[in-house]
Amino acid sequence: MRLDVVSLAPDAFAPLLALGVIGRAFAAGIASLHLHNPRDHASDRYRKVDDEPYGGGAGMVLKPEPVFAAVEAIPVLPRRRVLLMSPQGQPLRQADLRRWASSCDQLVLLCGHYEGFDERIRSLADEEVSIGDFVLTGGELPAAVIINGVVRLLPGTVGTEACLEDESHSNLLLEHPHYTRPASFRGLEVPAVLRSGDHGAVARWRAEQQQTRTSERRPDLYARWQAARNPAGQSSTEESSSPC
Ligand code: SAM
Repeated sequence: MRLDVVSLAPDAFAPLLALGVIGRAFAAGIASLHLHNPRDHASDRYRKVDDEPYGGGAGMVLKPEPVFAAVEAIPVLPRRRVLLMSPQGQPLRQADLRRWASSCDQLVLLCGHYEGFDERIRSLADEEVSIGDFVLTGGELPAAVIINGVVRLLPGTVGTEACLEDESHSNLLLEHPHYTRPASFRGLEVPAVLRSGDHGAVARWRAEQQQTRTSERRPDLYARWQAARNPAGQSSTEESSSPC
């Protein structure tokens, strides 16, 4: 997958290339990262990319011309999605990461800065994405979150793809607890069933744990899971049918 990031702080993405499993995926050519600074597309001699807001008010606004020029200079692959980082966007979900990972050849991620971006920049995007109901100084961390989450799902990135199947948010239930050696640690015991060698009992215990911890920690997800089990309910997974 080709990933293009439009950002005033392209250096912020260097750690991704050195980040364990994700860094190895880039090194192996599973994904490629291309950084584009709107400042390189500013037309004035001061390379100005921000300006005061029309109507007054606090803060500066990212100008449209350098961002449009940066996006228009990016090669276009057939199955491409342009994502605008914004606290006003749709909340990011695992289903979005799966949809982009499975159906896109290219993601273009637009990072805002300052008080925000000129409203006309929105017209460049297919989707506006928020990583949560809080405000950061720029779109770099949200874009890095998306890149990490998408690249992780690309075939070949994670050694055992079974790891991706039953994890939290792959369906509506959270994952069951994990334990490793030692069997007893500071008086805390590994549940006996996990040491029993009875694969059926282990599977049942894990399924029960998934339900219990989801109902305790995320009653909203649990209610949706219960509704999806109802034959009259909706789809049983988080998958979205939206195209790339
Ligand atoms: N004034 C804007 C507002 O109230 O909606 C917030 C601007 S924020 C300081 C600057 C940039 O950081 C945004 O344009 C966006 O690209 C990015 N950003 C901040 N919080 C974000 C979030 N929760 N999700 C995605 N992007 C975010």
